Amino acid sequence: MGTIKVQTENIFPIIKKFLYSDNEIFLRELVSNAVDASQKLKALASMGEYNGEAGKLRVEVIVGKNARTITIKDNGIGMTAEEIEKYITQIAFSGAEEFVNKYKDKVDKNVVIGHFGLGFYSAFMVAKKVEIFSLSYKENSKAVRWECDGSPEYQMEETDAKKERGTDIVLHIADDCLEYLEDNKISALLKKYCKFLPVEIKFGTKKEFVTTGEKDDKGNDKKTEIEVDNIINNTNPAWTKKPADLKDEDYKSFYHELYPMQFEEPLFHIHLNVDYPFNLTGILYFPKLSNKLEMPKDRIQLYSNQVFVTDNVENIVPDFLTLLRGVIDSPDIPLNVSRSYLQADGNVKKISSHITKKVADKLEELFKKDRADFEKKWDDIKVFVQYGMLSDEKFFEKAQKFALFKNTDGKYFTFEEYENHVKGNQTDTEKKIIYLYTTNVSEQHAYIDAAKNRGYDVILMETMIDSHYINQLETKLKDIAFVRVDSDTVDKLIKKEETQPSKLSEDEIKQLQPVIEGVVPKEQFMVVFESLSEKDAPMLITRPEFMRRMKDMNALGGGGMNFYGNLPEMYNLVVNSNHPLITRLVNEADPDKKQTLAKQASDLALLSQGLLKGEQLTNFIKRSVELID
Ligand code: ADP
Repeated sequence: MGTIKVQTENIFPIIKKFLYSDNEIFLRELVSNAVDASQKLKALASMGEYNGEAGKLRVEVIVGKNARTITIKDNGIGMTAEEIEKYITQIAFSGAEEFVNKYKDKVDKNVVIGHFGLGFYSAFMVAKKVEIFSLSYKENSKAVRWECDGSPEYQMEETDAKKERGTDIVLHIADDCLEYLEDNKISALLKKYCKFLPVEIKFGTKKEFVTTGEKDDKGNDKKTEIEVDNIINNTNPAWTKKPADLKDEDYKSFYHELYPMQFEEPLFHIHLNVDYPFNLTGILYFPKLSNKLEMPKDRIQLYSNQVFVTDNVENIVPDFLTLLRGVIDSPDIPLNVSRSYLQADGNVKKISSHITKKVADKLEELFKKDRADFEKKWDDIKVFVQYGMLSDEKFFEKAQKFALFKNTDGKYFTFEEYENHVKGNQTDTEKKIIYLYTTNVSEQHAYIDAAKNRGYDVILMETMIDSHYINQLETKLKDIAFVRVDSDTVDKLIKKEETQPSKLSEDEIKQLQPVIEGVVPKEQFMVVFESLSEKDAPMLITRPEFMRRMKDMNALGGGGMNFYGNLPEMYNLVVNSNHPLITRLVNEADPDKKQTLAKQASDLALLSQGLLKGEQLTNFIKRSVELID
């Protein structure tokens, strides 16, 4: 008999409430303790501190259906009565710490440190009573049985029930946690938390006295004990191996082991391996990303010495890296602490910036090694790189070397290459280099065509994130402005010195202005005359760049105060005063015909911007047929 030494009268309600948010993690804690015990035995054997037969080390999880128990059984170092007293009942004392102090120069401490603090007591989240049967590896040890029902009182005595070295933790499952006796539940938990533990984990179900159809001597049904055994884990996952020992195929097959429901191949991987100033290993994969920034289902998994911790790595890796997949394993990330604490943790910050750097380095390496291949992958990794550039200063610096622009001809340019490509023809009167872009090649086709006829280049900026990206590039890159290809007439997209003389006189323009204003809704269109080339369209619709950006920002929920919320949709209807059709319009004497002609020309302009819809479109088609007749 004894009393567990804790400050408060009863620690268990505290454990239940505050320490762990999820009661299912009891299994992770107990299985990792069992794994630790096995690792310790292995370490002792290799140091010559244990002369017995280590045997095959394995952990078994056995569900006792009838007895309503879950047993976690290991053949590790075991515990003597003194050790149980010390490590289990004097809660605040970490046994691992003492172990490490004793052997710190001889063994990798990360293998043996238990990282879960009060791990053992998480058993009481699902058990009304816990028994420990343990036999220490130490010579002449006596097996002990310890029992506690969740109050600070416990019992301990010698026992004959434990014959082999190691520890059995027997959980008598509480009445409100009986779901943990389901095979599916336990095997799912083991697959979640224990899939890559370094010691073999077997899962068995003891269905005591199942009838199999056999008869005994008296002709009665023979009841047999049936056990189903399954090995849960891969003890040697790819990230624990040396990159030199792995082929591309190995990385791919590990990807599918991690994400059995993913059928697409990853684009490439990064093998992380750091031992200073913190320990971290892992493999990150670049999946094919769709353009939409959806929450990834298959996320990066965080491990601590091969024990699954979480796949919610928010605050541990930068947001943009959560688009990646794979595993990160670090014993230096504090576990079971609140997320806000994690954010402030120095190690976590270092880890996060290290990963960012590694990812940038890898991308640069891929770019340098095989530009053509990098370009092939670019469309798939573009969103990721941009997101990184937007959210991380350092990543931006590095990414400038490999981030690409793609133009409407499908050609790729680095920032530097692009500047050189367009600087000659696209510098305006204020010495700004104008980068023309399109958000939709098919909708803005007419404008792209006009720009290309001028010898201009047009790049693709088609995604949601592109509009933020444009803003960022304008602040970061010197003397550059982005202008959407349909934001003005081609002459005015890039301001140049030379101007075309107008074929219409002031008076003619004054005469025509009200006619054209009469055929489009006033509140939506401003009619302006411009002397463009004869080859340009007679009328066209433009939307000033600043107007569109305000609208875009509003649509994205930017601007915070919804300042631009009530902006009307405003466009310019540009009349090309040099087009022969406009000259015809001026000279048309019949007012009805004049109006029809003006309407037809403005409808064509609307049509090319996709703005002619519904009744307007129907009328346009009818009118067109009549005009052909
Ligand atoms: P931690 O693992 O963080 O030290 P726990 O409460 O989980 O905290 O365990 C306390 C100690 O009890 C361990 O450090 C270890 O010395 C001992 N222990 C727990 N489970 C086992 C086991 N299966 N075999 C041997 N020792 C164990």
